[in-house]
Amino acid sequence: MIVMKFGGSSVESAEAIGRVVSIVEARLERRPVVVVSAMGKTTNRLLECARLAVEGGREEALAKLAGLREFHHAESPEEVRGAIDAHFDELAELLRGLSVLGEMTPRSVDAISAFGERMSSLVVAAAFRQRGIAASHLDAREMIVTDDRHTQAAPQYAETYERLAARLPVLAARGVVVMGGFIGATRAGVTSTLGRGGSDFSAAIAGAGIGAEEIQIWTDVDGMLTCDPRVLPGGRRVRVISFAEAAELAYFGAKVLHPSTVLPAVEKQIPVLILNSRRPDVEGTRIVARGAESANPIKSIACKRNITAVSIKSTRMLMAHGFLRRIFEVFDRHETPVDMVTTSEVSVSLTVDNAARLEAIVAELRAFAEVNVQAGQALVALVGDGLGERKGIAGRAFQALNGVNVRMISQGASQLNLSFVIADADVAKAVGLLHAEFFTELDPKVFDVAAREALA
Ligand code: ASP
Ligand code: MG
Repeated sequence: MIVMKFGGSSVESAEAIGRVVSIVEARLERRPVVVVSAMGKTTNRLLECARLAVEGGREEALAKLAGLREFHHAESPEEVRGAIDAHFDELAELLRGLSVLGEMTPRSVDAISAFGERMSSLVVAAAFRQRGIAASHLDAREMIVTDDRHTQAAPQYAETYERLAARLPVLAARGVVVMGGFIGATRAGVTSTLGRGGSDFSAAIAGAGIGAEEIQIWTDVDGMLTCDPRVLPGGRRVRVISFAEAAELAYFGAKVLHPSTVLPAVEKQIPVLILNSRRPDVEGTRIVARGAESANPIKSIACKRNITAVSIKSTRMLMAHGFLRRIFEVFDRHETPVDMVTTSEVSVSLTVDNAARLEAIVAELRAFAEVNVQAGQALVALVGDGLGERKGIAGRAFQALNGVNVRMISQGASQLNLSFVIADADVAKAVGLLHAEFFTELDPKVFDVAAREALA
């Protein structure tokens, strides 16, 4: 059995769903379980309706909902239009309820946003049948058991795996199984969601539960690239990458894969493939438990743009202890995650992505230290397994970056990344220089050398 996950843009229209059906049809002998996201931007549109309803815009919310209903109707096979209508009637009821209450709980957010996947899974299952392919719809809420932390619910693995193992193989033997991603239910049967972008996570959970041969994440890019195409076009596709490297890239802002996806699959050593539903013949990127030996130490360059660097200095702390604790306590109290940290005896530099609470943080830090804040920074990370054991990487990186002002440097404790903080304005230049240094000669086992695009 394999799990094939299709994201929102892969199921955004009847035409796109038609492509999904063809892709799955070509793999029927592998007994696919299909996990789908909501169609197109449905989740955002549902949440927008809910927000309007709560904020007194009942009519506007219902009008937007009617637009969403029309969209679903237009893109659905005849067979499910009745069911789709019933879902929208229920949604309209919920929105009216919200507008009366004038407030929204995480539980009601889940009740509403779950409709996207509840419906897309019905639509996609029907699309298979319309093409003469046996398919059954499985309500993910009967399979994925979660805790009750609504909007960010955590799967209860033992129970979930048990249910998946009991149901999926039986259904998959009879035809394609289609299940919505993102959604689940608490033990009490209340609808919950795994967090935005959670369909990848659902696919990994489903794959882990049935011990799938492979989990395929079908998206709208060819796979992981050697650099972020929004920063530098012309990067190469990475053919094989380790779980650890892929997770590291995701933490640094690569948009292709949700990092949590990795966990359930890693534990069961199930390979995850990233594939392009618009170009299904491209072999994509294979994420495996352990990466292949490669002549190329760096697999990809990731960037996190528009971050803020904070440097904190206190000469009073010379030879004293507790300085780091005092600093991080402040960030913790303001629930602000810190990304990179570099330290010396009396000074600490760190970066934050979310600067919403920074003013209050800085005010507290100033009680015991000198603080300097620099917005408009960027983090550039060279990612590759075992960087700590390779000689000469830092030398090559600094040589390449000659002429770019580097503000902070860190080689992660994970040995997976060598990162720099530079001015955001220098990102394109820096990534171009690093890319030329590390990706001019490519190991064909690890990188796609055939599609040689000129670097812009
Ligand atoms: N539909 C959900 C979202 O937009 C989950 C997903 O697409 O993965 O966040
Ligand atoms: Mg997604």
